Amino acid sequence: MALPGKEATIAEVVSIAVECIDCGRNRWWKPAELKRFGVTAQTPLAALSGRLVCKACRADGLPGGAVSIQAAFIDEQQQRRAEARMLSEREVPLERSRRA
Ligand SMILES: [Zn+2]
Repeated sequence: MALPGKEATIAEVVSIAVECIDCGRNRWWKPAELKRFGVTAQTPLAALSGRLVCKACRADGLPGGAVSIQAAFIDEQQQRRAEARMLSEREVPLERSRRA
């Protein structure tokens, strides 16, 4: 049993990938787009799979509840931004020397 204080919530993610195990469709959702499913910043990630369903499967008369959830955390994105910044900083002197 996970401790409530340690559980990751929607507030910590930048986007959620929802992949349907039945039909293979997947798409990325922004947390704001998930509000229509009753998902808020306080919703634990563990509770997501129970709330999200595959619309395509629903349209075919299937339950559509077999979804796998993947979350991109805010920390990871900040790390990626920092890496991108490092790369561009490294490229600046090269540009200068090429022009000189
Ligand atoms: Zn599906």
